[in-house]
Amino acid sequence: SHKKVQDLNTVVRALTPLLQAEALMENKNVKLNLSDCPHVYIDEKEIRQLILNIGMNGLEAMEETGVLTIKTYTENEEIVLEIEDEGAGIKEEIISDIGTPFFTTKENGTGLGLAICYSVAQRHSANIDIESNKDGTTFLIRFPKSSVLE
Ligand code: ADP
Ligand code: MG
Repeated sequence: SHKKVQDLNTVVRALTPLLQAEALMENKNVKLNLSDCPHVYIDEKEIRQLILNIGMNGLEAMEETGVLTIKTYTENEEIVLEIEDEGAGIKEEIISDIGTPFFTTKENGTGLGLAICYSVAQRHSANIDIESNKDGTTFLIRFPKSSVLE
Protein backbone atom coordinates (compact mmCIF):
# COMPACT_ATOMS: atom_id res chain seq x y z
CA SER A 1 0.00 0.00 0.00
CA HIS A 2 0.99 3.65 -0.28
CA LYS A 3 -0.08 4.74 3.16
CA LYS A 4 1.62 7.63 4.88
CA VAL A 5 0.97 9.59 8.01
CA GLN A 6 -0.60 12.80 6.85
CA ASP A 7 -3.03 15.61 7.44
CA LEU A 8 -6.51 14.75 6.21
CA ASN A 9 -7.28 18.46 5.73
CA THR A 10 -4.49 18.74 3.18
CA VAL A 11 -6.07 15.93 1.19
CA VAL A 12 -9.50 17.59 1.40
CA ARG A 13 -8.10 20.95 0.28
CA ALA A 14 -6.26 19.38 -2.66
CA LEU A 15 -9.48 17.92 -3.97
CA THR A 16 -11.86 20.79 -3.34
CA PRO A 17 -11.17 22.73 -6.58
CA LEU A 18 -12.33 19.72 -8.59
CA LEU A 19 -15.64 19.52 -6.75
CA GLN A 20 -15.97 23.30 -6.76
CA ALA A 21 -15.56 23.48 -10.52
CA GLU A 22 -18.27 20.88 -10.91
CA ALA A 23 -20.54 22.68 -8.42
CA LEU A 24 -20.16 26.13 -9.93
CA MET A 25 -21.25 24.94 -13.36
CA GLU A 26 -24.60 24.14 -11.80
CA ASN A 27 -25.13 27.01 -9.33
CA LYS A 28 -24.12 24.88 -6.40
CA ASN A 29 -21.36 25.45 -3.92
CA VAL A 30 -18.80 23.60 -1.85
CA LYS A 31 -17.95 24.70 1.67
CA LEU A 32 -15.22 23.48 3.98
CA ASN A 33 -15.39 23.35 7.74
CA LEU A 34 -12.08 21.79 8.73
CA SER A 35 -10.67 21.59 12.22
CA ASP A 36 -7.17 20.67 13.24
CA CYS A 37 -7.00 16.92 13.69
CA PRO A 38 -4.26 14.45 14.49
CA HIS A 39 -2.72 13.09 11.33
CA VAL A 40 -3.98 9.81 9.90
CA TYR A 41 -2.25 6.90 8.26
CA ILE A 42 -3.82 6.93 4.80
CA ASP A 43 -3.29 6.26 1.14
CA GLU A 44 -3.82 9.75 -0.19
CA LYS A 45 -4.90 8.64 -3.67
CA GLU A 46 -7.52 6.31 -2.25
CA ILE A 47 -8.90 8.91 0.14
CA ARG A 48 -9.07 11.46 -2.67
CA GLN A 49 -11.09 8.97 -4.68
CA LEU A 50 -13.41 8.37 -1.74
CA ILE A 51 -14.03 12.09 -1.20
CA LEU A 52 -14.54 12.62 -4.92
CA ASN A 53 -17.02 9.75 -5.30
CA ILE A 54 -19.10 10.75 -2.28
CA GLY A 55 -18.82 14.45 -3.12
CA MET A 56 -19.93 13.93 -6.73
CA ASN A 57 -22.90 11.90 -5.54
CA GLY A 58 -23.77 14.75 -3.17
CA LEU A 59 -23.64 17.30 -5.98
CA GLU A 60 -25.67 15.04 -8.24
CA ALA A 61 -28.27 14.61 -5.49
CA MET A 62 -28.99 18.35 -5.43
CA GLU A 63 -31.30 19.13 -8.31
CA GLU A 64 -31.29 22.92 -8.32
CA THR A 65 -28.96 24.79 -6.03
CA GLY A 66 -27.43 23.65 -2.79
CA VAL A 67 -24.32 23.44 -0.72
CA LEU A 68 -22.00 20.48 -0.33
CA THR A 69 -20.21 20.76 3.01
CA ILE A 70 -17.05 18.86 3.90
CA LYS A 71 -16.08 18.77 7.55
CA THR A 72 -13.32 17.24 9.60
CA TYR A 73 -13.22 16.95 13.37
CA THR A 74 -12.19 14.66 16.19
CA GLU A 75 -14.79 12.73 18.18
CA ASN A 76 -14.11 10.07 20.81
CA GLU A 77 -10.49 9.94 19.61
CA GLU A 78 -11.64 9.10 16.10
CA ILE A 79 -11.11 11.39 13.17
CA VAL A 80 -14.32 12.08 11.33
CA LEU A 81 -14.72 13.21 7.74
CA GLU A 82 -18.23 14.39 6.95
CA ILE A 83 -19.62 15.02 3.48
CA GLU A 84 -23.05 16.56 3.59
CA ASP A 85 -25.45 17.49 0.80
CA GLU A 86 -28.82 19.22 0.59
CA GLY A 87 -30.37 16.75 -1.81
CA ALA A 88 -33.62 14.84 -1.44
CA GLY A 89 -32.06 11.99 0.54
CA ILE A 90 -31.69 8.28 -0.07
CA LYS A 91 -34.95 6.36 -0.15
CA GLU A 92 -35.36 3.93 2.73
CA GLU A 93 -35.96 0.98 0.40
CA ILE A 94 -32.62 1.33 -1.40
CA ILE A 95 -30.38 2.13 1.55
CA SER A 96 -29.28 -1.51 1.91
CA ASP A 97 -28.45 -1.73 -1.82
CA ILE A 98 -26.13 1.21 -2.07
CA GLY A 99 -22.49 0.21 -2.17
CA THR A 100 -23.36 -3.03 -3.94
CA PRO A 101 -21.31 -3.00 -7.15
CA PHE A 102 -23.38 -1.84 -10.14
CA PHE A 103 -26.35 -0.72 -8.05
CA THR A 104 -27.45 2.64 -9.42
CA THR A 105 -30.65 4.66 -9.68
CA LYS A 106 -29.15 6.94 -12.33
CA GLU A 107 -29.74 6.61 -16.04
CA ASN A 108 -26.03 6.82 -16.77
CA GLY A 109 -24.70 5.66 -13.44
CA THR A 110 -22.07 2.96 -13.06
CA GLY A 111 -23.04 2.05 -9.52
CA LEU A 112 -19.36 1.70 -8.69
CA GLY A 113 -18.64 4.91 -6.80
CA LEU A 114 -19.75 3.79 -3.38
CA ALA A 115 -18.54 0.21 -3.83
CA ILE A 116 -15.06 1.70 -4.28
CA CYS A 117 -15.56 3.88 -1.19
CA TYR A 118 -16.46 0.87 0.94
CA SER A 119 -13.34 -1.00 -0.09
CA VAL A 120 -11.18 2.06 0.51
CA ALA A 121 -12.75 2.45 3.94
CA GLN A 122 -12.13 -1.22 4.69
CA ARG A 123 -8.46 -0.90 3.76
CA HIS A 124 -8.24 1.96 6.27
CA SER A 125 -10.24 0.22 9.01
CA ALA A 126 -12.62 3.14 8.67
CA ASN A 127 -16.38 3.04 9.06
CA ILE A 128 -18.88 4.70 6.79
CA ASP A 129 -22.18 5.80 8.35
CA ILE A 130 -24.99 7.39 6.38
CA GLU A 131 -27.58 9.76 7.79
CA SER A 132 -30.25 10.65 5.29
CA ASN A 133 -33.63 12.32 5.26
CA LYS A 134 -35.70 14.38 2.83
CA ASP A 135 -33.51 17.45 3.45
CA GLY A 136 -30.21 15.81 2.61
CA THR A 137 -27.64 13.14 3.18
CA THR A 138 -24.51 13.03 5.29
CA PHE A 139 -21.76 10.46 4.85
CA LEU A 140 -19.60 10.10 7.96
CA ILE A 141 -16.25 8.39 7.53
CA ARG A 142 -14.66 7.58 10.85
CA PHE A 143 -10.96 6.81 11.02
CA PRO A 144 -10.12 4.87 14.15
CA LYS A 145 -7.47 6.23 16.45
CA SER A 146 -5.39 3.16 15.58
CA SER A 147 -5.18 4.26 11.94
CA VAL A 148 -2.58 6.79 13.07
CA LEU A 149 -0.32 4.00 14.30
CA GLU A 150 -0.86 1.06 11.96
P1 ADP B 1 -23.72 6.01 -9.23
O1 ADP B 1 -23.40 7.39 -8.72
O2 ADP B 1 -23.00 5.67 -10.48
O3 ADP B 1 -25.20 5.76 -9.31
P2 ADP B 1 -22.78 5.17 -6.64
O4 ADP B 1 -22.24 3.90 -6.13
O5 ADP B 1 -21.92 6.37 -6.51
O6 ADP B 1 -23.17 4.94 -8.16
O7 ADP B 1 -24.17 5.44 -5.92
C1 ADP B 1 -25.16 4.43 -5.94
C2 ADP B 1 -26.55 5.01 -5.70
O8 ADP B 1 -26.65 5.49 -4.36
C3 ADP B 1 -26.91 6.21 -6.55
O9 ADP B 1 -27.38 5.81 -7.83
C4 ADP B 1 -27.99 6.89 -5.71
O10 ADP B 1 -29.24 6.26 -5.89
C5 ADP B 1 -27.56 6.59 -4.29
N1 ADP B 1 -26.85 7.72 -3.66
C6 ADP B 1 -25.52 7.79 -3.40
N2 ADP B 1 -25.21 8.95 -2.81
C7 ADP B 1 -26.36 9.64 -2.67
C8 ADP B 1 -26.70 10.92 -2.13
N3 ADP B 1 -25.77 11.73 -1.60
N4 ADP B 1 -28.01 11.30 -2.15
C9 ADP B 1 -28.95 10.49 -2.67
N5 ADP B 1 -28.69 9.28 -3.20
C10 ADP B 1 -27.42 8.86 -3.21
MG1 MG C 1 -21.57 8.00 -7.90
